Amino acid sequence: MHDVVVLGGGPGGYATAFRAAARGLDVALVEGDELGGTCLHRGCIPSKAILHVAGVMEEVHRAPVLGLQLRYDGLDGDGLDDFRRGVITRLTKGLDLLAGQRTTRYRGWGRVLRSDDGGLAVAVTGEDGATTEVAGRHVVLATGSVPRTLPGVEVDGEVVQTSDQALWFRQAPRRAVIIGAGAIGMEFASMWHPFGTEVTVVEALDRVLPLEDAESSAAVADAFRRRGMEVLTGARVTEVRRDGDVGHVDIEVEGTTRSLAAEVVLVATGRAPRTADSGAEELGVLDDRGYVRTDAFGATEVVGLWAVGDVRPTLALAHAAFAEGVVVADRIAGLDRVQPVDHVHTPRVTYCHPEVASVGLTEAEARERFGEVVVTRTSFRANAKGIIAGVDGIVKVVHAAAGAPLGAAGTAGPVLGVHIVGPQATELIAEAVLATAWEAVPEELAAITHAHPSLYEAIGEAFQSAAGVPLHGH
Ligand code: NAD
Repeated sequence: MHDVVVLGGGPGGYATAFRAAARGLDVALVEGDELGGTCLHRGCIPSKAILHVAGVMEEVHRAPVLGLQLRYDGLDGDGLDDFRRGVITRLTKGLDLLAGQRTTRYRGWGRVLRSDDGGLAVAVTGEDGATTEVAGRHVVLATGSVPRTLPGVEVDGEVVQTSDQALWFRQAPRRAVIIGAGAIGMEFASMWHPFGTEVTVVEALDRVLPLEDAESSAAVADAFRRRGMEVLTGARVTEVRRDGDVGHVDIEVEGTTRSLAAEVVLVATGRAPRTADSGAEELGVLDDRGYVRTDAFGATEVVGLWAVGDVRPTLALAHAAFAEGVVVADRIAGLDRVQPVDHVHTPRVTYCHPEVASVGLTEAEARERFGEVVVTRTSFRANAKGIIAGVDGIVKVVHAAAGAPLGAAGTAGPVLGVHIVGPQATELIAEAVLATAWEAVPEELAAITHAHPSLYEAIGEAFQSAAGVPLHGH
């Protein structure tokens, strides 16, 4: 009998396991594949490795501007493969080491069930087909998610692909149609385009990255179009079919119909919880979309059964899963004053080019919640490091109006949201996460010295503008 049995070794599962072990609990970790989950093996990490290569390629294109005479002889598929697999292997080994020190590992596919004594257990079926029942005082479901496809669309893995297949390209396709302009769609466009792929992004809603602030969506769509990619919003996909080596995507956009042909059609229309065969359904904890129903702390209605990560209908982000795992482990350990994960102050990061990152409320959300809010903007256009790097973008700060209920008396109210489109936005967001999570007011932030020259001084400048004392801007 373990204190905790964690089913699934992705970011949500291993974070739960590691924190529970750190709290002195006896932990079992069940995983049928390698540790690291979608993030490490089919998602965040391989995509970021490829995006790094694509970023180098962007610099290669810029070489003449930099006074460099370079000759580019093409993409070496083996080299690319060694690079991305090397990154994955190194991180997997690290996780194996940590998990070996901190948990009892069970290798196999698990299914949660009620054991004969009425408690919870996970039946683990190993490679040899033998099943072991691993009992736990607590069981944590962390089985993640799978790509969601479109009804009637057959993903053949060759022409019509999801990210599971598309991540392993050895040569970028000549022409790609990407269905869905969420994080996955926008990142793939940025992986392929620098290598000469003709990209069309097809999005059903009226803007790309629809969860971001509308100005971020507009800025990144503009940047894509300026670089020669086609971005179609408000577009309805009516049919996807394969004809030999060519994929065809029929769409309706702005009252007309079009048929787009491509070497690769990427279906990037979201992810679905991976709860089939996990035992969750039999225990009655799934909602009608297949997500695990929990309270804010991750507890299900079954005493002792918890869930973290993509099986919950919260943000499908690795770092949200880490945070949920930590909360669940601390609750199981019986700690006082555990707070649920603050999803509003969880950074959202999309590693497309230009990068998009945000934290807190969008302008529309802030207005809905607080009525009057103040918005200030600065641009990377006048930022020295931005000019050197040849990049542009915006920083938008949404804050409560002075005297608003949330604000300290006599000052502008706290920073409610920060939205960045531009170079290294996914790193620069760090300061904004602190600012919003600590409910800082612009006056406090404006007094903090930022290094010059730096990209992050654009954030400082944005806070100075928000405080009404811009140094370079107006
Ligand atoms: P998503 O839900 O973020 O975006 C899917 C997009 O597809 C939406 O904009 C949606 O409107 C559009 N869409 C749906 N059906 C469509 C149709 N028939 N035609 C055209 N467009 C359609 O999903 P995703 O981009 O596939 O990513 C899956 C999950 O993984 C998300 O939760 C995402 O946040 C996460 N993820 C995060 C990162 C990151 O943080 N950098 C990277 C990749 C994935």
